Amino acid sequence: NCVIDARQLVKIYRNGAEQLKVLDNVSIKVNKGDFIAILGPSGSGKSTLMNILGCLDTPTAGQYYLDGVDVLKASDNELADMRNQKIGFIFQKFNLLPRLTAEQNVMLPLLYRGMAEEAARQLAREKLTILGLGDRLQHRPNELSGGQQQRVAIARAIVGSPQLLLADEPTGNLDSKSSGDAMEIFKELNRRGNTIVIITHDIEVAEQVKKIVYLRDGKIYEN
Ligand code: ADP
Ligand code: ADP
Repeated sequence: NCVIDARQLVKIYRNGAEQLKVLDNVSIKVNKGDFIAILGPSGSGKSTLMNILGCLDTPTAGQYYLDGVDVLKASDNELADMRNQKIGFIFQKFNLLPRLTAEQNVMLPLLYRGMAEEAARQLAREKLTILGLGDRLQHRPNELSGGQQQRVAIARAIVGSPQLLLADEPTGNLDSKSSGDAMEIFKELNRRGNTIVIITHDIEVAEQVKKIVYLRDGKIYEN
């Protein structure tokens, strides 16, 4: 039932003789169906924590179990598989591939897993249509608005039915209307059982989720 079980994470960046402790014994649990915001000011260690929870970086010390798997004992290949199969990532800058159409961008994680092209296309179209982009399948990112690009990115994140959606400042590049739309999509996904962690410095975003966890000076506060 526990998707994320991270215990006493420490992250120290070394720069020559200097040391910067960015995470100081951070523990966080996320259960299936949770909808959590990790809220902290710029420089508080949010991206560092996101990278560790997303298996993109490893802590200096601590333990991390993702969906029951000991992440810190996994090989680089196993980590890549975990990222691809267990996590859907959503970023502030959307991170879509500019030369690919909306449909192709959403197909990519499925093709990477070895799904046949036609099956992947079918699923990609389904997700894009659910998110209101049924008439934008063949558009490239620069032919779409920011809000539309973020919906393509959300479709890409959910298309493989990952255990966890991890969103880093997902509304940071959006106007207030698109930002509200994106939050409504996250709420609907959560109502349908998706487990979602949003990392943000925006209190208005954080207030829309079920639970806020505060990150300040590398430490976690629940209230
Ligand atoms: P946030 O996402 O909350 O802004 P970050 O995790 O990006 O916080 O950064 C936290 C602190 O760690 C900052 O002081 C930043 O300068 C420092 N930092 C981040 N990444 C590195 C790195 N690779 N090497 C050294 N210092 C870093
Ligand atoms: P099922 O829930 O049986 O998988 P649905 O057609 O209800 O089938 O949903 C298919 C997928 O689309 C699911 O991943 C669901 O989370 C997502 N989904 C459906 N409707 C919406 C919606 N209005 N907003 C966001 N996601 C949706």
